[in-house]
Amino acid sequence: MSADRAVLHSALERGEEEGGSVEFKERLSRELHLADGRLESLAAQLRHRVLSGDGTATYVVGVTDDGGIAGIPPEAFSESMDVLSILAEEAGAHIEDVETWGVAADGIGTDGVESGAESGAKSGAETDVDRGLVGVATLTEGAVLDVDDDHIVVGTAGHVDHGKSTLVGSLVTGTADDGQGGTRGFLDVQPHEVERGLSADLSYAVYGFDDDGAVHMDNPHRKSDRARVVEESDRLVSFVDTVGHEPWLRTTIRGLVGQRLDYGLLVVAADDGPTKTTREHLGILLAMELPTVVAITKADAVDDDRLETVEREVERLLRDVGRTPLRVERYGVETAVEELSDSVVPVLKTSAVTMEGLDDLDAMFERLPKVATDAREDFRMYVDRTYSVTGVGAVASGTVNSGSVEAGDELQIGPMPDGSFRDVEVRSIEMHHHRVDRAKAGRIVGIALKGVREEELERGMALLSGDADPTPVRSFEAEVMVLNHPTRIREGYEPVVHLETASEAAIFRPEGGQLLPGDRGTATVEFKFRPYLVEEGQRFVFREGQSKGVGTVTDVGGDGE
Ligand code: GDP
Ligand code: MG
Repeated sequence: MSADRAVLHSALERGEEEGGSVEFKERLSRELHLADGRLESLAAQLRHRVLSGDGTATYVVGVTDDGGIAGIPPEAFSESMDVLSILAEEAGAHIEDVETWGVAADGIGTDGVESGAESGAKSGAETDVDRGLVGVATLTEGAVLDVDDDHIVVGTAGHVDHGKSTLVGSLVTGTADDGQGGTRGFLDVQPHEVERGLSADLSYAVYGFDDDGAVHMDNPHRKSDRARVVEESDRLVSFVDTVGHEPWLRTTIRGLVGQRLDYGLLVVAADDGPTKTTREHLGILLAMELPTVVAITKADAVDDDRLETVEREVERLLRDVGRTPLRVERYGVETAVEELSDSVVPVLKTSAVTMEGLDDLDAMFERLPKVATDAREDFRMYVDRTYSVTGVGAVASGTVNSGSVEAGDELQIGPMPDGSFRDVEVRSIEMHHHRVDRAKAGRIVGIALKGVREEELERGMALLSGDADPTPVRSFEAEVMVLNHPTRIREGYEPVVHLETASEAAIFRPEGGQLLPGDRGTATVEFKFRPYLVEEGQRFVFREGQSKGVGTVTDVGGDGE
């Protein structure tokens, strides 16, 4: 951790210089910094910083102009990162990485938020967060990645220190780790890197394949390298962190639901074996119906007996949740690729030190088909944010779930608290702050709407084509799985349900009166305050305090409202 903090200290020492690549900002707000005129000048400033840093700039956020540690609340930090990502887009750059630290009132805390703090550090991290955050964002020249059919997105998960970053680092660079985590340094995904994923690229590592095999990153720090890999490859594989950051659950849900992941990669360290976190992460990956591969990492660190024991533990873990493990070593990569599904989970042994198992992973990632597609052709977008722009009016932003949208389209938005949908017209569409005529599924857009006021819009509402006949849903039936809960879940349990972009209190009525931790069961879920547009097959996450679980909507009934 001290090594991590060195990043901050060195940025602070270098300081803000005229013509340098380091910039200090206390905070960036949507209202102040995205206003007309201001946005352009801040983007120009950012462009200068990136150019003077030979393609890379460093923004230190949560500090005063002279480098004094201020520390800002998590929400303010999060907003700052969103604003920064918009400025970056405007300047033809993107946020490559963000590191955060918890700050005590009197300066940098002795136990700052650990880089990549995961569920194990939950309570500590939450306390730190209460005291404010300071962060260092690295901005890199160039646009973000586009996802198409030749680009699979892999969501990574696993207990902290089980070797996730190292494995991904070795995969994308094709080089062994020294056992000290040398290849992982640049990959440690931070909570806010995931958070700002709404307006930028969620992936933290990428590599590809061409006719001759893998196309590796030579130096992940070099801006041109990623562009080269993207250019040279026929098939791209990018890695997105999914369930790593406990205090930021909402953002990880976006990682799972918002970003269309194709596959899950769960790591289990051979020395430690499966833990409670492993079980929980597996539960989330599988409940999200992500076909998953399990990598038993650090195979070099243990003897064969131990390795065999852990393999069996992993297999038991998989069988416990109704999946069939498939040993890649025994059945081969071809079979693993063919069989990999909701029910079959390939398991392989890997070491980033000896590179054992990485060939097999490469071979799988090279062949696995793109799976994430949305069959629906009608336009639909769940509203993530809303704002009001002078002279334009209400703007709703989010990721286009399906179909496409054009300026002038007649749409409807809702449900309103009373269940009604409002007819609206698309005034204009912006993508990364550039006006576009049309946007298709997968794009992150801001849509200016005629026919509704910004105050009437809320996160979680859906924007859909004008001739659709949507039914607002106040309660629905779901298949749910409780991942961790101290006791049992009874009638009247009231977690917050995160479904698409909605986050809303709901009342659970489990069939049979109760649900035990680890159980799958059926429950009726009723939103406490208002209806949403919910459909069969949608997945959601719920949580209340320490407890959380996942579910799939099975029946929206006809309760209408
Ligand atoms: P993460 O928290 O899951 O991302 O784990 P890291 O990738 O940061 O790895 C945690 C520690 O395990 C680091 O010190 C790595 O050097 C070490 N490690 C990771 N993979 C291996 C491996 O294959 N073999 C050995 N011996 N150590 C490893
Ligand atoms: Mg890591």
